[in-house]
Amino acid sequence: MTERFAAIGVPVPLGRSFSYRVPPALEGVVPGARVLVSFGRRKILGIVIELRDEPPEGLDPSRIKDVEAVIDPEPVLPEELLRFLAELSAYYFAPVGEVLRLAVPAVERDRVKTLQKQGQLDGLGGVGPTVGGREVQFARATDAVEAPGSLRGQAQAILALLRAQGESQVSQLTKRHGNARSALKKLEGLGLVVLEKRRLERGSIFDDVPMPDAPPELNPEQRAAVTAIEAALRGEGEDKAFLLFGVTGSGKTEVYMHSIAAALEGERGAIVMVPEIALTPQLVGRFRARFGDAVAVLHSGLPEADRYAMWRKLRSGELRVAVGARSALFAPVADLGLIVVDEEHDSSFKQEEGVRYHARDMALLRAHRAGAVAVLGSATPSVESVVLSRRGKLRELRLPERATAAELPTVEIVDLRRHRKGPSGHRMLTMPLHRALEAVLEAGEQAIIFLNRRGFAPAVVCNGCGQVVSCRHCSVALTYHRRAGGRLRCHYCDFQMPLASDCPTCGKDELELEGLGTEKLESTIAEVFPQARVARLDRDVAAGAKSEKVLDRVRAGEIDVLVGTQMVTKGHDLPGVTLVGVVNADSALSMPDFRAAERGFQLLVQVAGRAGRHDKPGRVVIQTRDPQHPAVRYAAKHDVLGFLVYELRDREEVGYPPFRRLSLVRIDAVDEDRARQVAGRLASEARKRVEVSRHQVEVLGPAPAPIARLRNRYRFRVLLRGTSRGALRRVTAALVAIKDDIDKKVRVAIDVDPVSML
Ligand code: ADP
Ligand code: ZN
Repeated sequence: MTERFAAIGVPVPLGRSFSYRVPPALEGVVPGARVLVSFGRRKILGIVIELRDEPPEGLDPSRIKDVEAVIDPEPVLPEELLRFLAELSAYYFAPVGEVLRLAVPAVERDRVKTLQKQGQLDGLGGVGPTVGGREVQFARATDAVEAPGSLRGQAQAILALLRAQGESQVSQLTKRHGNARSALKKLEGLGLVVLEKRRLERGSIFDDVPMPDAPPELNPEQRAAVTAIEAALRGEGEDKAFLLFGVTGSGKTEVYMHSIAAALEGERGAIVMVPEIALTPQLVGRFRARFGDAVAVLHSGLPEADRYAMWRKLRSGELRVAVGARSALFAPVADLGLIVVDEEHDSSFKQEEGVRYHARDMALLRAHRAGAVAVLGSATPSVESVVLSRRGKLRELRLPERATAAELPTVEIVDLRRHRKGPSGHRMLTMPLHRALEAVLEAGEQAIIFLNRRGFAPAVVCNGCGQVVSCRHCSVALTYHRRAGGRLRCHYCDFQMPLASDCPTCGKDELELEGLGTEKLESTIAEVFPQARVARLDRDVAAGAKSEKVLDRVRAGEIDVLVGTQMVTKGHDLPGVTLVGVVNADSALSMPDFRAAERGFQLLVQVAGRAGRHDKPGRVVIQTRDPQHPAVRYAAKHDVLGFLVYELRDREEVGYPPFRRLSLVRIDAVDEDRARQVAGRLASEARKRVEVSRHQVEVLGPAPAPIARLRNRYRFRVLLRGTSRGALRRVTAALVAIKDDIDKKVRVAIDVDPVSML
């Protein structure tokens, strides 16, 4: 009889899987099942990644341990997903156990925890949040009939209501009838009503089932796009992955929905990924209106138990469509046929902690391996995706015009060096912006004023010594927030302190607020235009789903001017908005990052896309000190292709992605010297390998990170840049192999294809 061996992913921070022997008694074990194995002196839970008939090479077969127990008769993960996860783990040099954790729901982990508590296991748990679970009480009328005249008041009213509508949530009844609970108790006692608890499966913001909608007639461009995607779903032709490049409001969402419908028709499931789902309930509502209860909406606000219930329904094929932010990449959708990535250029698809994966890149990989179709959509495609389409890896589908009659807004650039203070006396409200606001208010229309700095003043400077007041724990300027009594706050670590009258460095009484944040902008506009109803939308006033409340008020016409950060740029459809003002484009363009121009451009185009989406024409005013900046110039002309041509040439010249590849080695420690030493050591190890790799890889650094200190840790980095992917991987792998053994007090993280360079 041949012996069998299993490659098992275990939850330890080591990149590889481990080999165990499958004893004959456990020979029914399947890939994807969890098993109990001994690891060092512990017993831990792992997941079977692969089964083999041969012992792994280079291992003495007599030293391979046995799998001790099999926990699941069925795989916890479908094989397709499991293989994908293993590949993802290898690509990012991320421990396979940690990658598996991204896909195995917390409740499963919790069951493991229970076993652990019983002293049996030591395994995949560790980050599992507690199981919340929203149990909701329902009341239902029975067939019993009361004695005539025996009921009065609220009891009578509630019973009549329940008989009319069958059942109701108890909390709904208490809203209408203050004494509903005691009345219900009484009715229950009389056998007239039954009360029962049920588990609700959707988060509160998505509870309302939207009105079903009828799909509009597609226009010719949309039709052509859908036809191409449908053909791919049927397996016809060569193209399997698409870049849907359509201007804001061109009807991309409609194309996604038709494509999903086609996948469902072919009995296959779909994943839709959107950036920051809490900010896009409108979009989610559209999916639910079209597909009703076939859609699982995954978001972080969801109680753990609900998420688990959805996970199971996706796994079993009962639910066929998963909509969510980047983590939807790991949804166990059965018979995956389609992955849609909306706003594919958005940097929130990159996870910046733990396993640093890019959900858009990995969506292409998962779709490819699963034989599914991928659709990446954007009005401002990423440079990466554009290059993929030029290389024939993505087929481009274009929607060049808005789907409705609305024209793209006119854009006016205001040179801040020439226009000084407007009539209000405020430097950032120039004459043109002032006049534009005036006109909008007069016409009874609405405006969005965008500024990507929250707080009142982004910095406090001492006129005595010239020092900027910075965070005690980070090398970052503190932002002054006027609300809540006037405090200085760190936007990176949340450190706070009161604004003292004297400079913390030199003691002189010469501190001055510098710069402009949304809080100040809001109050300035309210002062200058007393007739206007002004509101603000940024992370300070509206975390997550609360932003929808503010946006609802804008839609209801209760707000004239909405001041906000990036939060106002996200795909919202606000029909009354005819003016978009960008207070300071330069602050978005001056980041120390090779993608600064690209991001700034995307931001400008997206925010401009909020203006004039319906019947009234829109207008955009962009204020800048650098009107010749390509991002500004091309955004003003809505010339996305023009910008891309410029940006591609620039990237190629300076040797940055997508023309070269990067691995960023991030090193940090409480002790500055130790961090610097490890960084130096890693850089020199890397340089040794570079010789071997015939200089296809460059080593830049070590250097302090742009934010040199964060949460009390000093940060350094070594950047590896390669012309050959293979050579870059080999050098990176060499560092991965030694990174954790140089100094245990120093943390080293590998960021493959980094997005944030901070
Ligand atoms: P995008 O996702 O490209 O920004 P949307 O899908 O949100 O665009 O479409 C913008 C608006 O146009 C929406 O109000 C949508 O209902 C409408 N729309 C989309 N396609 C059509 C169509 N073929 N006919 C009429 N209206 C459409
Ligand atoms: Zn800080």
